[in-house]
Amino acid sequence: MRTICVLLLLLLSLPVYSLEYVPGEVIVKMKPSSGQQNSIQNFISKVSTDRKMELKQAFKDMNMYHYKIDDQDSVHNAISDLEMDPDVEFVEPNYIVRKATVFDNQLQSMTPEEVALMKATALSTQTSDIGLPITPSGRQNLGEQGENSVSSKVTALSFVPVVAVVDTGLDINHDVFVDSGAIWTNSAEIPSNGIDDDGNGYIDDVNGWNFVSKNGNMLDDEGHGTHVSGTVLSAGMDIFTTPYEASPMKIMPLKFLDHTGSGKTSDAISAIYYAVNNGAHIINNSWGGAGYSASLHEAIAYSYFNEVSFTAAAGNSGSNNDSSPMYPASYDVPHLMAVAATTSLDDLASFSNYGYASVDLGSPGVFILSTIPCSGGTCGHGTSSGTSMATPFVSGIAAMMLIEAPTMLPYQIKEIIFGESDYIADLDNLINTESRINGTASVTNASTASIDATQPDYTFTPLRTLASSSSGGGCGLVKNMYQQQQPKAGGGNGGAKSTKIPWSVFMILGLFGLPFAIAQFMKKKSVSTQVNRRKHERFKMESTVSMEIGGKKVNGHVNCISQGGVRMNTQELLEKGGVIKMVISSPDGSEQIEVSGQIVWESDKQSYGVQFKNVADEVSDQIENWTKDLSPEPYK
Ligand code: CA
Repeated sequence: MRTICVLLLLLLSLPVYSLEYVPGEVIVKMKPSSGQQNSIQNFISKVSTDRKMELKQAFKDMNMYHYKIDDQDSVHNAISDLEMDPDVEFVEPNYIVRKATVFDNQLQSMTPEEVALMKATALSTQTSDIGLPITPSGRQNLGEQGENSVSSKVTALSFVPVVAVVDTGLDINHDVFVDSGAIWTNSAEIPSNGIDDDGNGYIDDVNGWNFVSKNGNMLDDEGHGTHVSGTVLSAGMDIFTTPYEASPMKIMPLKFLDHTGSGKTSDAISAIYYAVNNGAHIINNSWGGAGYSASLHEAIAYSYFNEVSFTAAAGNSGSNNDSSPMYPASYDVPHLMAVAATTSLDDLASFSNYGYASVDLGSPGVFILSTIPCSGGTCGHGTSSGTSMATPFVSGIAAMMLIEAPTMLPYQIKEIIFGESDYIADLDNLINTESRINGTASVTNASTASIDATQPDYTFTPLRTLASSSSGGGCGLVKNMYQQQQPKAGGGNGGAKSTKIPWSVFMILGLFGLPFAIAQFMKKKSVSTQVNRRKHERFKMESTVSMEIGGKKVNGHVNCISQGGVRMNTQELLEKGGVIKMVISSPDGSEQIEVSGQIVWESDKQSYGVQFKNVADEVSDQIENWTKDLSPEPYK
């Protein structure tokens, strides 16, 4: 008996797509079994000798390592080779990511009069629709006591949450932050003594860290981070009226985006790692990129395991994140809140990304008034727009919830924020909750909610997994298949019957990423006398297939079916790393099945593939129907 498998050969070509990454650097995650210090040391010395790789940074708790590769080596080669190393779970480029505002340098400075006017007319939706600022219970009592000292006000609060703003930095000399005492202080670090007093790996990190210039000066040379930080703060205090109140929360500025607003994934991971390990309760992420990074995914999972909330901007391309993911917003970690931007009229902002499956809730993000870096001795306010501006409201509200419920876990915080958000018709079918955040309702709920003791389990599974780490030896679309036995010559069709045969692997779509594969196939096809040396037999089948990749719909033609996979130019697929949706037509064109899956790396085949998840029995049955009458003659 012969086992039939299916290969769809697509005659289509996609444009080469390339994401930006840092030249000469890779991030390596070691397998759990390699967690012992010995094997790590062996690996480090091995790649140092063999490949002249230099360890730049170690994230030991995540078993991840950031390397500089040899000047003569290419990132592509280094990744191809390291992927073969049995100790390596994954290796990837160090991708570039960007702030998530709508335009570059778009901070609009405003005079105090304009600020007052804007505040009075509530053009800035932060003060009206979403019920901010929220007064923490501790501060009201202080007001009655007539206390004016910032320090006494702050210490009177039972709990002071720390919000890490992973961004372009923060002007810590801005009046709002100075007067309100909003800047986080690392009490274990003695300022300016040139010593890493607390042994956390950073010298003089008194108020945070600058991962770009590698020092304790988080000077905001772009403006984005100062604006975002002010908005976080605005959830719990009036940031527009002097004298400023005491801040009910602390901002931990972690600068990883440079003066152009772009940064390295390795630095983002460092910042997240720092935030988690140095006491942050919430991490605000108003930045992103289109490239899936397993190491960044791992860092976010690390924040979940350590019970630190994580907010992320959905992005400003006006596109659908379900088909064209934006990271970190699109990672599936359970506590992550992916935030879209809404207007003062409660519409989805025209620039805002959306996604019913992958974007969670709306928050004001158009002409948001907040703090901008001091200039010429003036520390003022200005407006900016973007999902970058929407996200920090959610972070700030999460902080205010923690004041009411200090032990509340990030997952419950997220559940309450989602549950208490206000339904907005314009978000129908566009984002998950179809709602815009409601700060007052969320904090009120948190103050009375019973606290969940645990969070849902989560297993970090990188999108590009090595086949050896995935179960079942492949990406099974169909577990069982029936093959029709061929009738004997002259016997007609009446004698045909179906016999069940196991299909452990049905559709590993080997996306070899090389356009020449198609060319080679076409060449063979045209030379009818050529011996078919393919490993798997092919069966002729005329069909069409359409796929959704990165927001684009591509149509292809399938003209054979066999074991193996789909071949095409998949550079875009690989680097987008997202969900791929395929519609495959039956041979007679009368039926279609739609399947979706995620791009994975198959080490044994040295190719990328699409791993299908939750494929329904109906799909299995349909394919069985399609193939049962196909001629088993090898396609030539
Ligand atoms: Ca230190």
